[in-house]
Amino acid sequence: MIDFEPSKTQKQIVAAARDFGKNILLPAETELDKIPDPQAVFTGNRFWDVIAEAFELGFSKMALPEKFGGMGLDPQTTGMVWEELARWGPGFAATLIPGAVVPQLISFLAPDNRELVDKFVIPYCEDNSGRYLTAWCSSEPEVGSDGSNYNDLNVRHHTIAEQSTDGYMLNGTKSDFVSNGGIASAYIVFACINPSLGIKGSGAFVVPGDAPGLKTGRPLDKIGLRVLNQSPVFFDRVEVPSDYLIFPCGDGYPMLHNAIITVGNLAVGYLAVGLMRAAYECALEHSKKRVQWGKPIFQHALIAQKLFECFQAIETARAFLWKGSWLSGKCFPGDLKTSLAAKVYATDQAVRHTAEMVQVLGGYGISREYPVEKYSRDAKLLKIMDGTNETLLIKAAALL
Ligand SMILES: Cc1cc2nc3c(=O)[nH]c(=O)nc-3n(C[C@H](O)[C@H](O)[C@H](O)COP(=O)(O)OP(=O)(O)OC[C@H]3O[C@@H](n4cnc5c(N)ncnc54)[C@H](O)[C@@H]3O)c2cc1C
Repeated sequence: MIDFEPSKTQKQIVAAARDFGKNILLPAETELDKIPDPQAVFTGNRFWDVIAEAFELGFSKMALPEKFGGMGLDPQTTGMVWEELARWGPGFAATLIPGAVVPQLISFLAPDNRELVDKFVIPYCEDNSGRYLTAWCSSEPEVGSDGSNYNDLNVRHHTIAEQSTDGYMLNGTKSDFVSNGGIASAYIVFACINPSLGIKGSGAFVVPGDAPGLKTGRPLDKIGLRVLNQSPVFFDRVEVPSDYLIFPCGDGYPMLHNAIITVGNLAVGYLAVGLMRAAYECALEHSKKRVQWGKPIFQHALIAQKLFECFQAIETARAFLWKGSWLSGKCFPGDLKTSLAAKVYATDQAVRHTAEMVQVLGGYGISREYPVEKYSRDAKLLKIMDGTNETLLIKAAALL
């Protein structure tokens, strides 16, 4: 039977996320969003104090296995928490989601590699400082949506991994868009080992953030999610041991890439639902107080319709994502088509409805004194994050 009642544990952890979100994320993100220099967000203590508290509360390790110190939560529960964290601090939630990618992929692909587990998984799970945030680097200046272009042999990552005597040497540049790119303690790097295979010639490497030759650039100055660090990562003769290659090149590349986006797209969808809820709750409250033409604007049918349609979108997007998470819990990583469809739906709705919630507030909506304009700016990034909605739609449609 289908049951929409959250369990006692789910209610408790969502309540903890709400407390943390309201009291810590919301004020910090509101303040940091207004800092004009993107670099300054990550050099001050404000950002790091919040991330440290998120690590202490365990929001950094929800999906990691208990045997390594993680919380071992199921995909539906983690999804509920991502929605709640995004309701209050979408940029912080967008930081924590990719922040766990290195320990997550090692736990999944190389759980028996003691060195990798001891260096990158256990310290991450034990960390209370937030300094163990990680990142994944696939996109490059010349490789955006082409990361999914499996059949054109002329398309490949230009970051090259050459076999050396003890392992591999990496050279190349990853795009300005790498989430946590400038602040990560370790990276998953897709680098080309065999150019004749096109994009499938890439393997996935674990690279420590302090590896000699690894440098990062300035954070991107962008319209939304300004609390999410997105920076380019440069590799100049960076050496890694052979067994830091946790996924080889070859026909498995699409499988790994698709598994990552099956899980990642759900998380991005939950960010979209959290953002829509934030904008909706703010606009609903305003509409019941603001009086024009002799009555609260909520009583004007066209305003009520905007709020109603936003409510509909929140409920339908969430239900669709829960289905995706349920499939992911049943058989990891889940169903690619469902995850992509749910992400595309949720993020399209978020862009549409956050803009409409700005409209509900009229002139106040565009003022930075009110939070809705920020939700509208933040939502836009989600249609590009983890694959653009156009290319995800094409990929999912091919599976119909
Ligand atoms: C918030 C955010 C976080 C990100 N985090 C990371 C990260 O952690 N690591 C990482 O490696 N990258 C990351 N990225 C990069 C992201 O993966 C790329 O931005 C994305 O894949 C698109 O690539 P692009 O920006 O080069 O756009 P392009 O691929 O150049 O696309 C430009 C436009 O053309 C359209 N287009 C492209 N191909 C087709 C096609 N075949 N048919 C129809 N339309 C098409 C696209 O939909 C888009 O509208 C992030 C991006 C964002 C916005």
